[in-house]
Amino acid sequence: MPLAALLGWLLADLFSGLVHWALDTFGTVRTPIVGPAIIRPFREHHADPAGMTRHDFIEVNGASCLGCLPLLVLGFALDGFGHALVVFTCLGVLFTNQCHKWAHALPGKNSFLIKKLQEIGVILRPSDHAKHHTPPYNSHFCTANGWLNRPINFLLKR
Ligand SMILES: [Zn+2]
Ligand SMILES: [Zn+2]
Repeated sequence: MPLAALLGWLLADLFSGLVHWALDTFGTVRTPIVGPAIIRPFREHHADPAGMTRHDFIEVNGASCLGCLPLLVLGFALDGFGHALVVFTCLGVLFTNQCHKWAHALPGKNSFLIKKLQEIGVILRPSDHAKHHTPPYNSHFCTANGWLNRPINFLLKR
């Protein structure tokens, strides 16, 4: 279980980075279906990074929740470690945008626990995520814990 939880949290970071990179890189807000529904919130976030701190729990986490559904279906076909890994990955994915929101919170808005988790790097550090919002805006796409930012940055530069 602890290994599945750790790997699930790592996979959630991977998914957050890949999805974020794809939606920042391909298409426009006018792309049919995905443009207005999925690409637009990502592009608006770049124009107004603090905007998401004013969004409620459903608006912040709803899309991540829906994104987990295909993964949960896969979980039904697995048992043992595979099943635990899928469940923990889904739990991780559910928290990716919440961690992203906490990384944008104004000073003094996050609880003591969240600040500690950010400091020790269990969840996304604000200083790490700030690099995504810095020109040329093409790195640091992971929003769960940021553990995979370095390897993904390295791969994107090649
Ligand atoms: Zn972005
Ligand atoms: Zn952000």
